Amino acid sequence: MPIATINPATGQLVESFDALPDGQVDAAIERSVEAFEALCGTTFAERAQWLTAAADLLDADRDDIGRLMTTEMGKTYASAKAEAAKCAAACRFYAANAERFLADEPADASAVGATRAYVRYQPLGPVLAVMPWNFPLWQVMRFAAPALMAGNVGLLKHASNVPQTALYLEKLFRRAGFPVGAFQTLLVGSRSVERILTDPRVRAATLTGSEGAGRAVGRTAGQELKKVVLELGGSDPFVVMPSADLERAAEVATTARCQNNGQSCIAAKRFIVHTDVYDEFAEAFVARMSALRVGDPMSADTDVGPLATEQGRADVEELVRDAVDKGARVLCGGQRPDGDGWWYPPTVVTDLIPEMRMWSEEVFGPVAGLFRAASYTDAIRLANGTSFGLGSNAWTRDPAEQERFATDLDAGSVFINGMTTSFPELPFGGVKNSGHGRELSAQGIREFCNLKTVWVG
Ligand code: NAP
Repeated sequence: MPIATINPATGQLVESFDALPDGQVDAAIERSVEAFEALCGTTFAERAQWLTAAADLLDADRDDIGRLMTTEMGKTYASAKAEAAKCAAACRFYAANAERFLADEPADASAVGATRAYVRYQPLGPVLAVMPWNFPLWQVMRFAAPALMAGNVGLLKHASNVPQTALYLEKLFRRAGFPVGAFQTLLVGSRSVERILTDPRVRAATLTGSEGAGRAVGRTAGQELKKVVLELGGSDPFVVMPSADLERAAEVATTARCQNNGQSCIAAKRFIVHTDVYDEFAEAFVARMSALRVGDPMSADTDVGPLATEQGRADVEELVRDAVDKGARVLCGGQRPDGDGWWYPPTVVTDLIPEMRMWSEEVFGPVAGLFRAASYTDAIRLANGTSFGLGSNAWTRDPAEQERFATDLDAGSVFINGMTTSFPELPFGGVKNSGHGRELSAQGIREFCNLKTVWVG
């Protein structure tokens, strides 16, 4: 992919960038090693001060960075500004809590024949972060805020279609006061990732992106014996049971599917509805999906903007076409409009069967698959019946059923009567082909630490 800003609403090239030559990448890695040494000599309080300054800058920049994100990847301006605010909140959360999360943890010294025994968390060094375009600030910040507070340093290889947001992030941390090299953006293509990760100075990696990219980076990290966190794709189930508040479920289902123009890893993608309430839910859901306003992402009236890339739209179209060719029915949407830009309407598809790609693959656009479940057991079978396991949603007012869903859904998170989302206070990540490791909360900040056992005789 070219490293360029192309406005998805128009398809017009805004600005393109040359990839950084290998020599400059090597110099950046060297700077990150020096910055790591500098950061190791700082206190939590100093780092918290810089991270809080970054939060204040994000608040002040909200309109400008919001506009930039909308221009680069098409999310609505309102959601882009909300993303910047969420990043500022995450910075403040880690500024306030990192020292507590990484405090020495005493163990039972007498049980191990010691006078003192404890666990100490120490940073690993330069960490490579390979990031996607869909939440171009947030995906980076949920790595960077805890990493910097722990004393690690970051090397960002962002998605090639959001280079200006990537450059903004490097400047943000410098303006906030972090040492030169503590957080650097490397404008490189994905082919440079292997070379960077095999550099012995780079100690670990995190990747948020597709399963294919995760496998490639996971392979290299494994070969190099380096720690890696993988946040990959998902095809989250949204189960609706007879006791659910159906109107509310249909309303949240619509947001859960179409947030971020349908391009969220934790978007609900498969709607599995108990047969007793299937018709009523389907009617309410299709009505709401059809009523969404698709248009200029800068306009306050818009619910759904364009897809971020031309290829992304082609992939969505292909999945719907494949399902329709094999007998699926489209209840709304399903046809791209004519004209410039990469638009695709909110779409609901039903009568899906395992031979259709939509049954098992992730649809990264505003397209919902609607499934009928005969019973609780059938709903769980359908919900768990993909290779993914990122988020999951279940709608039921029956407390016993809520408990069963919490145990039986095979995913990194279960949201009951609500939409899957991420909070700095709660761990985030997946199982199965959705990846491994966790971001956010205390668990997230410890992923890139040496969890050191100390035994004193
Ligand atoms: P992508 O194509 O995998 O790209 C993500 C990042 O990986 C980009 O920086 C990309 O660089 C890089 N990359 C791609 N192929 C690579 C390879 N073989 N080796 C090394 N790096 C490689 O994903 P995307 O289309 O941007 O994002 C959509 C996917 O991300 C969806 O599957 C979505 O579910 C997933 N996602 C997961 C989470 C989560 O938290 N679990 C969050 C958001 C998105 P280039 O841009 O230069 O190709």
